[in-house]
Amino acid sequence: MHDSYWIRTMPAWTDRPAPDSSDSYDVCVVGGGAMGASTAYWLTQLGRRPLVLERNDTPGKGASGRNGGFMVQGANPVHAEAVEIYGHDEARSLYRITQTNQELVEAVVQRENIEGAYTRANKVDLAFDEREEAYLRESVTPLRNEGVDVFWASRSDIPEFLGTHVGRHIPGGLVRCNQATLHSTKFVLGIAEAAQRQGATFVSKSPVTELSPLRKGWRVVTPNRVYNVPQVVVAANAWTPQLLPELEPHLSLIRGHLLLTGPTDLKLSPWSINDTATYGRQVPSGQLLVGGMRSAVPDADVDQRPRPAESGLDTRSEIVDALAKVLPEILPATESLGMDHAWAGVMDFTPDRLPLAGAYPGREGLWVMAGFSGHGMPYSLALPREIAEACVNPERSKIPAVLNPTRLLG
Ligand SMILES: Cc1cc2nc3c(=O)[nH]c(=O)nc-3n(C[C@H](O)[C@H](O)[C@H](O)COP(=O)(O)OP(=O)(O)OC[C@H]3O[C@@H](n4cnc5c(N)ncnc54)[C@H](O)[C@@H]3O)c2cc1C
Repeated sequence: MHDSYWIRTMPAWTDRPAPDSSDSYDVCVVGGGAMGASTAYWLTQLGRRPLVLERNDTPGKGASGRNGGFMVQGANPVHAEAVEIYGHDEARSLYRITQTNQELVEAVVQRENIEGAYTRANKVDLAFDEREEAYLRESVTPLRNEGVDVFWASRSDIPEFLGTHVGRHIPGGLVRCNQATLHSTKFVLGIAEAAQRQGATFVSKSPVTELSPLRKGWRVVTPNRVYNVPQVVVAANAWTPQLLPELEPHLSLIRGHLLLTGPTDLKLSPWSINDTATYGRQVPSGQLLVGGMRSAVPDADVDQRPRPAESGLDTRSEIVDALAKVLPEILPATESLGMDHAWAGVMDFTPDRLPLAGAYPGREGLWVMAGFSGHGMPYSLALPREIAEACVNPERSKIPAVLNPTRLLG
């Protein structure tokens, strides 16, 4: 299994237990990905002592360190479709939380000096054909209603916004201004480091093997230690059903592939094509990332269960080949770039493509964040902040009702 570009360029990490550690924690967070690290960060801001248990040797090596690093506002579907599926008010509250998220990311990376983690960028949603152009154009008005600077660029205008010409079949694209990309591991480890500085305790190489309720609180079992804590937040992404098996039927595990090209002088904005679920961006080294093409081998990426000790998944050569082939069809100037390497990670999809975030039904002191459906970064600080707030002060938490886990678990 190949490491991602983000893991190959990840900052150094050392677990440093808080100096005044009395071994008593307010909340145990299971998982040191973007969601777990951010929850710990906000708990420290609220004066609490979080303990983060991470199975890997550092935080950030799960999906958060193997992804595309796009941070695009709104829910998983394009906004007009989100309004249709979830309803106007719900789609709007989701949009708002992702806008708040971007403001929080900008503020926190600056406050905590997390260098090179965040870049503001215009995102270009390319249309695969005229049918998709009509579909994308439907989002212009709803997005403008959310205050987004968005416009349609025709094929001949695209190079001005994307940085290069597009393939002959592409009629144009929707340009969404002021979206963002992350350096995935600089972001997660930067937040984790800030949480650690402010009193969070991270214990790596600590897989949680069992959670069981106590008369008051929870018993958290790892191979080396057992912790008794008042509250637990499970932020274990695709591995969540291994601890909370009732979620198994509600989370579909889907493999995602990414390919990194050789170096290029092109300077591109992040882009995607909805129809083929293909997307791309430039990484700080200048190489291009291209991901998606799940349709290349039908069902090959579906139901891909990582084993407890695995952080990613092996790649499938037909899908890597399909990514290498599709990139120059979309962006002809990339024809001769070749491939550096490819990797795969695992995503957990809910049936409605919305995350689960909130109290675990019927289990006092247990909280869950999962089911990000391949689209977690737009929630990466805002939802963990609400979960942290809920642990401390449930009535103050503003988690949108549409994300409540009861919708799947009753
Ligand atoms: C190929 C790919 C591309 C993607 N691209 C994007 C993108 O461009 N934009 C976007 O918004 N989203 C993207 N996503 C989705 C995004 O990466 C996820 O939504 C996000 O990382 C979820 O964060 P997390 O913290 O919940 O999960 P993770 O980062 O997976 O963190 C979970 C952590 O829990 C740990 N863990 C699991 N079980 C246990 C246990 N029992 N005990 C202790 N620790 C445990 C894991 O080791 C892991 O570190 C992509 C995902 C993939 C796979």
